[in-house]
Parts: sequence; structure tokens; C-alpha cells
Amino acid sequence: MKKRILITGAAGFIGANLCERLVKNPDNMIFALDNLYTGNLKNLAECQKYDNFQFIRGDVREKFDLPVDQIYNAACPASPPAYQRSPTYTTMTSVLGVVNMLELAKRYNAVMMQFSTSEVYGDPEVHPQVESYRGCVNPHGIRSCYDEGKRVAESLCFDYFREFGVKIKIIRIFNTYGRYMNPNDGRVVSNFITQALRGEDLTVYGDGTQTRSFQYVDDLIEGIDRMMNQSREDFQGPVNLGNPDEFTMLELAEKVLRKTGSKSKIVYCPLPGDDPTRRRACIDLAKKELNGWEPKIKLDEGLDKSIAYFRQFI
Ligand code: UDP
Repeated sequence: MKKRILITGAAGFIGANLCERLVKNPDNMIFALDNLYTGNLKNLAECQKYDNFQFIRGDVREKFDLPVDQIYNAACPASPPAYQRSPTYTTMTSVLGVVNMLELAKRYNAVMMQFSTSEVYGDPEVHPQVESYRGCVNPHGIRSCYDEGKRVAESLCFDYFREFGVKIKIIRIFNTYGRYMNPNDGRVVSNFITQALRGEDLTVYGDGTQTRSFQYVDDLIEGIDRMMNQSREDFQGPVNLGNPDEFTMLELAEKVLRKTGSKSKIVYCPLPGDDPTRRRACIDLAKKELNGWEPKIKLDEGLDKSIAYFRQFI
């Protein structure tokens, strides 16, 4: 009997990378759910070649019934311009989506992994961010639809676990980049690389001193796999998955300019509201619980791979 695996948000950036990893194991049967709000079927072209892969067009906000053994709930727009386009849609995708997936897990005794985010820490007063830090989130700002939606989702996971014994696992994903990112999704890595390749100005928001730590997607997928297959039943997380190397946005812009050899200039644009000032993943827990997991791909190497990927869109 094959392991029946449901991936929501499967045609998105992380979903597609995860599908591609899991479909290569012939003991898995992959059901890939997506409503294509931000996802793109082209990301699944490789997966569609496999017999053990099935795409289902559907929306996690609606009830869904399919016998499964594992659920990876990745569905939700994740880039700030994308999730702010319809904030109510974003919140409802997180909240109704997680309820529908937890109900499914409850019905079939499946494991449900929730894709949470470093945004649950908001604009953090604790640095680097450890899982025990409860965060500093504006409950009514322009990022709240994403941040609070994801926080409610974590809370629902733990309530389904405590109230109904549903098997849950929660990962908090820090800034991630790489293959299958939408070149127009508005995030910083895709923006800077496509701007540099097109000879356009690189748009640094604010003074560019805010920091992020960037993880190449392959490292994330390895962490996700280890978390799902972690044998300790009582380890639900949440666990941070991110690269602890921290950079300012100006450093990132300069790296991209150097690597692409672009003659583009840096221009300064207004800083969007509630933009976190600094962010760096503390990954001590992941290292301890996930068999020594840590990112292997440095920013320089990951940027080279990403520049090669984004060239096809120019
Ligand atoms: N950013 C920037 N220029 C851009 C896009 C983003 O300077 O063209 C900044 C943004 O203000 C933030 C950081 O880069 O401080 C990361 O932004 P992104 O949207 O990639 O992710 P998030 O803010 O959700 O971490």
C-alpha cells in the first residue's frame, strides 16, 4: 500500500518543491491540491510525468474528503503584496484551511503538518528568534491578515491535538528563496534578481538596514522531510526552519549586483508598514530534534542557482 500524501498549495513555490521531492519515492501517492490563486501549474510540469501524482484543483477554504496518511498544509499566499491583495482571503485561507485539514486528519488518523512562519514573531524584540518567544505582532496592521491567520492556525493545531488527539507538526519557515518562486511575486530576492537582470533599478525599501536570514529552498525541504518523519510522537514543534546567516537588504542588493554584473542602480523607496526591522532564525531546536539538520547552502551559492533560474523569465 502506498503512503497517501496530500499537499495543499502544491502549485506554489514551496509546495512544488516538496511535491517534486516526495513524488520521486514510488512508495508515495501524491495528491496535489491548489486553487491557483498564486500557484502556477507550470511548477508541477515535472511532477505530472509521474504515475503516483495527481493534481486536484480545489480551495482549502472548502471542505475536502480524501483518505490520506499525511497532510502538508502549505496553502496561503506568502509574499506581502500577494497576501495584502485581499487580506480577508488570506486570513480565511489560513483559518478555514487549517480547520478543514485538521478535520481530515481527525477523520483518517493522518499526520497534519502546518506550514507556519517567522511572521508569528512580528517585529521581534528577541533576537535571534527562538520558538519560545511569543512575538510582537500588530493585530490590525497591513501584515496582520497573514501573521494573525498563521497564529490562529497554530493555535487550532494545538487545540485539535489537545481536544481530539490529532497528530500535528508545526514548522515555522523563515525567508526562503529558489526555484519555482514566481518572478513577479514582489519578494525581495525575486525583485532584486529580476531587476538586476533587466537592468532596472533595485528597489530598496526604507534605508536597507533591516535584516533577514535567507534559506535556499532545498535546505527547507530537507528540514520538512525530517520533521514529518521524526519518530518522536510527542514532538509537535513548533520548530524554526531557516538559515541563521543574517544580511541587511543593502548587502543583499550589492551581492545581487555583483553576481549578475548588472549596471543597475539602487533606489530607495518608502518602507511598507510594520516591516520587521530584523530577523534571524535560531535553529538550535531543529538541530537537536531533526537529527542535526542545518542549512547547507550559503547565500552566495543559493543566489547563483536562483539567478540561473530567473534568467528564463527575462
Ligand atoms: N524589500 C526591499 N525591496 C523589495 C522588496 C522587499 O527592500 O523590492 C524588503 C522588505 O521591505 C523587507 C525585506 O526586503 O524588509 C524582505 O521582504 P520580503 O517581501 O521578501 O519578505 P518579508 O518582509 O515577508 O520577510
